[in-house]
Amino acid sequence: MRPKCKDIAGDPKDPAAAYINDGRFFAHEVGHYLWLVHTFSWSFNSKAEYETNIRANVERQVTAYADKLGKNASDIIKNGEIPDDILKNGLSIFDADRGLEEDLKIEDTPADPGPWIFENEGMDMCKDPLEISVKFSDKQTQKYVFEVKHRKNVMSYYENNCKLFKFRFSPGQVHVMRSVLGGAKNRQLVPKPEFVWLGMT
Ligand SMILES: [Zn+2]
Repeated sequence: MRPKCKDIAGDPKDPAAAYINDGRFFAHEVGHYLWLVHTFSWSFNSKAEYETNIRANVERQVTAYADKLGKNASDIIKNGEIPDDILKNGLSIFDADRGLEEDLKIEDTPADPGPWIFENEGMDMCKDPLEISVKFSDKQTQKYVFEVKHRKNVMSYYENNCKLFKFRFSPGQVHVMRSVLGGAKNRQLVPKPEFVWLGMT
């Protein structure tokens, strides 16, 4: 059965729009059709908001770590003793497709800050790395960088703006699309309701 336009992602009022932009929109919408989600989950308005949310993400992980050890999380933070692997995981909230159910989880796409921050901060999303420095205590500061080279995924929103980039699916994304096409999980091609974004591309 052919899916109706409204059942797949894209703009239901203008399905032909998917074909413009050298087919990049089309590839992106086919990705959705084969169960891929965007590489970003949320986008905040300012660098300050990124800093706040990265800090909160790390502090949540420190709390879980401290609970396991029977220690106090605020002591760990104050003493500059946040473990490296937790510090490095600070961008995990920006890695949208990592948190999906097991067979849809994609681990090889980098954290994506989303496109809107660049305009708000007067930056060029195709040229400027986004650097966020987070100070956890006088003893511990971590610099986080969203690099330009990581903005070339088909399922990002940079495709509309950075026309010179060569956009690619990652091997992990290809794996998911192949498993959907192969029917290994008896999936229907029409996405489940939570994967449908009406009015959003
Ligand atoms: Zn999309």
